[in-house]
Amino acid sequence: MNTELLLQLINQSIASHNRFQKKWDAFDADDSLYIDESKALSVLAELETRLEENYPFFHPRYAGQMLKPPHEIAVAAYVMAMQVNPNNHALDGGPATAKMEMEVVQQIATMFGYKKHLGHLTSSGTIANLEALWIAKSIHPEKAIAYSSSAHYTHHRMCDVIGAKHVCLDNFNDIEQAITTHTIGTLVVTIGTTSLGQIEPLHEILPIAKKYGVRIHADCAYGGFFMLLAKDSKPSIDTRSFLLLNECDSIVIDPHKHGLQPYGCGCVLFKDPAVGTYYKHDSPYTYFTSKELHLGEISLECSRAGASAAALWATLQCFPLESEKGLGSVLKRTREAALQFSQQLTMSRLLCEYVPPELDIVTYFPRTKNFSASEVSSVVERTFTSLMKRQHDPLYLATVIVDSQTIKRRYPDFITDLPTAKIFRSVLMKPEHAGFVAKMLKEIEDDLSA
Ligand SMILES: *Cc1c(COP(=O)(O)O)cnc(C)c1O
Repeated sequence: MNTELLLQLINQSIASHNRFQKKWDAFDADDSLYIDESKALSVLAELETRLEENYPFFHPRYAGQMLKPPHEIAVAAYVMAMQVNPNNHALDGGPATAKMEMEVVQQIATMFGYKKHLGHLTSSGTIANLEALWIAKSIHPEKAIAYSSSAHYTHHRMCDVIGAKHVCLDNFNDIEQAITTHTIGTLVVTIGTTSLGQIEPLHEILPIAKKYGVRIHADCAYGGFFMLLAKDSKPSIDTRSFLLLNECDSIVIDPHKHGLQPYGCGCVLFKDPAVGTYYKHDSPYTYFTSKELHLGEISLECSRAGASAAALWATLQCFPLESEKGLGSVLKRTREAALQFSQQLTMSRLLCEYVPPELDIVTYFPRTKNFSASEVSSVVERTFTSLMKRQHDPLYLATVIVDSQTIKRRYPDFITDLPTAKIFRSVLMKPEHAGFVAKMLKEIEDDLSA
């Protein structure tokens, strides 16, 4: 983080709230809320110590899971709005931030090419998916929701929560057969799978789904902002599925993954605004002073932080959803990092690529002497721990369990003594990774040959 800038922005956030408060007559805070300054300072000092247990998510040395801190502008905007603490469940709970939410959701809908939409922010991708699946079940109550084995694990769970029939398909190869065998009403297609960052073939699935009147829900929680690269004049990703997202019935995207936001920011969009009727409720304690549609009427959750909408709104003012600048430039760098990594793996004697990166997640494993699933897994485990635990410049990777047969198809001399193997997985989701991958690979190789 740029500390100078952040301090300046946070100062402005605090001063702004002070000016807001001064518009009303002053009163004394109640004694029950009083805390001793030295107590507060010592609690924060203890918090600092406790937080040291975290991994350095901000640093390119952290190349593990999908984690990075929010941008300074998001932090400052969040702090500014949080002091007011608006609640976006109703227009009266947060009139200003509800408008911002509608604006940012509109920007996201436009990015995907939706001409009309119904949508809102959520507290996470899981809740956003839950909502999309709930609408899917409301439309086809007797039919199954199908997802692939690469889908996020919460789809299975959320289908149980809403009591929907559901089926997990190994892949989408024989989708026509699957639709008729399982009486599928909705297909979940993941654009950017969580483990490998793969794009499921929406371009092949969509025509068949249309033929059978099957709905499509696109889970773009992680991959959604790569839409900006798909619209680039020289795209560095496979654009075929992205460019059809506007034909999907619903889309989920997580601004708290690739949108520079703090946690608590997912988003769900529906192509047909008429699905709003499924949300209808008539609660005596929601307060209506407006005839306009308000966000509480179109969302499953009640209370939601208005500060999340403010943070995303401010961020998109600085990083517009464009290919050649703004957020597009950030994603371009993360994609570059993955491509560089992949390129350098082809020249490595010690490391092999598992599958080529489709977005910014890379997967790789050591070419061990005994080139077997068991040996690769144990070397991966050992190297993973040794890099993370070392005194100087630790390196934080992640691991993933994959199918041994998939490795064998690309590396015929691989010995499949176990059905699965543990390999490395790195999410290169910070633009700074682009300047770091050569160093990172060298450090992994050094550890392997030590
Ligand atoms: C992260 C992710 C989710 C879950 O989102 P949360 O915000 O973590 O609840 C769902 N689907 C995909 C594809 C994801 O990458």
